[in-house]
Amino acid sequence: MPQRYDVILVGGGIIGSSAAMALATRGLKVAVVDVDLSGRLSSSEKNAGGVRATWWQPVNITLCRASIAYYCSVRDEVAFRQKGYLWLYDDRTWAGACEHLELQRSLGQPIEVLTSSAIHARVPEIDKLEGVAGATFSAQDGLINPNLLKEHYRSRSRQAGASYIDRVYVHAAAVDSDEVRLECWQASETLTDEGLVRLMTEDAPGEPQAGALFELRGATVAVTTGAWSDNALKLFGLRNFSEPVRRQLCLIDNRATNFAAYGMIVDSSGLYFHNEGAHILAGYSPADTPPGHHFHYDGEPFFVNEIWPRMFARISCCERLRHITGWAGLYEVSPDRSAIIGRAAPRIFEAHSFSGRGVMQSYGAGQALAELIAEGKYQRFDASALSRERFDRGQLVTEELHI
Ligand SMILES: Cc1cc2nc3c(=O)[nH]c(=O)nc-3n(C[C@H](O)[C@H](O)[C@H](O)COP(=O)(O)OP(=O)(O)OC[C@H]3O[C@@H](n4cnc5c(N)ncnc54)[C@H](O)[C@@H]3O)c2cc1C
Repeated sequence: MPQRYDVILVGGGIIGSSAAMALATRGLKVAVVDVDLSGRLSSSEKNAGGVRATWWQPVNITLCRASIAYYCSVRDEVAFRQKGYLWLYDDRTWAGACEHLELQRSLGQPIEVLTSSAIHARVPEIDKLEGVAGATFSAQDGLINPNLLKEHYRSRSRQAGASYIDRVYVHAAAVDSDEVRLECWQASETLTDEGLVRLMTEDAPGEPQAGALFELRGATVAVTTGAWSDNALKLFGLRNFSEPVRRQLCLIDNRATNFAAYGMIVDSSGLYFHNEGAHILAGYSPADTPPGHHFHYDGEPFFVNEIWPRMFARISCCERLRHITGWAGLYEVSPDRSAIIGRAAPRIFEAHSFSGRGVMQSYGAGQALAELIAEGKYQRFDASALSRERFDRGQLVTEELHI
C-alpha cells in the first residue's frame, strides 16, 4: 500500500465513500481511513433512507436534486424507489411550506399541493385529518437503501484505485508546506462499541500493545467523520460548530396495513414512516433531546409513547401495531441545520454535519468536494454557500423543514 496519497479521507461513511468515488474516478490517488469500516456506530448505517429535494435553501435543493438524478441512474443497484414524499402540515407550519413552493419548483422540483380530500384519495389509509392545514406531495422523492448506496460508492471507488484502510484512528496531524502527515493507530482486532465511542470521543491513540502506530502522508486531507468530527477537526486546530444528537427509529409489525405503494409519509406531528419489507419503519425526534454521543434505544416505551399515538391519531387501521425492535443513531446538527462543506484550512477540506440529510445529499456533496479538491473550484456542483465561513459572516443557510 503506498503511504503517500493525493487525498486522505478521514471517515468512510456514506459521505467519505461518495467523495472517494468522485476523487478516484477523477484519477486521484485516494485513501479512506476509518476506525470501523463496517460502520457499527456510523449514521450511514442507522438512518431511515429518505431522499427528498423539498428543502428551503437553493444549495440543499440543488445538491439533493443532483443526487436524485444519480440515484435514478443506478436505481436497481441502490434500491431507489421513487415513490414520493407526502408531507402533512398543521396551521403553524403550512404557511412556511407554501412560501417555498415557488423556489422548489423554479429549481425543477415538481411538487403538488393537496387538500384534505386529495390526501385521503392519495393515501386512503389516512382517514383522520384533524389539525391538518394542507399537504405537499413530491413525486420525484423517495426511499433508498443506504447500505447499498454506500457499497456502490465504495465499489466504484475501489475499481478506480481507492484504498480503504480499516480499524484506523487518526490521533495526531501535522500540516507542512507540501503535505499533511497523519499519525495513525491501527487496532489489531475489531473494537467493541464502547471502545469505538471511547476512541472517537477521546483525543488519544489506542493502546500500543493492541495495535500498530504508523504514518500516512497526503497532499490534502478531508474530514468526513460525521457526528464524530469534533475530534478530527481538533487535529487541525479547527473549530467545530456542530453537535451530535440521538435520533431513534423503530420497526413495527404491520398486521392490518400495507404501505408498500407509498414512499415517505411525514405527519404534521413530526412522525415519519415508510414501508420496510413486511414492516413499517417509523421515527420521531423529540425536540428536547440533549446533545451527546448517546446510542441508547428506549425500546417499547418509545413506540408506545411517541410512535403509536401519532400513527393511530391519523390512521384508524394502525390501531393494532406491534413493536418489534429499533435503534438509535446520531444526527450531526450544525447551527443552521445545513451541512458544512468546503476548504477548512490550507490542505484541509471537510464535508460533515449533514443534519439528517447525509444520505440524500451524498452524491452531490461528494462530487462538490472532489471538484473543489481536484480542480480548485466548484464547477457543476456548487456548495460554496455551505462553507464554514458562513458562520462568521452571518450568512446562515437555515433549514426549518427538518426531521
Ligand atoms: C435515525 C436517523 C435517521 C436518519 N434519516 C435520514 C434520512 O432519511 N435521509 C438522509 O439523507 N439522512 C438521514 N439521516 C442522516 C444520515 O444518516 C447522515 O447525515 C449520514 O449518514 C452522515 O454520513 P457521514 O458519512 O457524514 O457520517 P457517518 O456515516 O457517521 O460516517 C463517519 C465515519 O467516520 C468514522 N470516524 C469518525 N471519527 C474517526 C476518526 N477520528 N478516525 C477514523 N475514522 C473516524 C466513523 O467510524 C464513521 O464510519 C438519519 C440519521 C439518523 C441517525
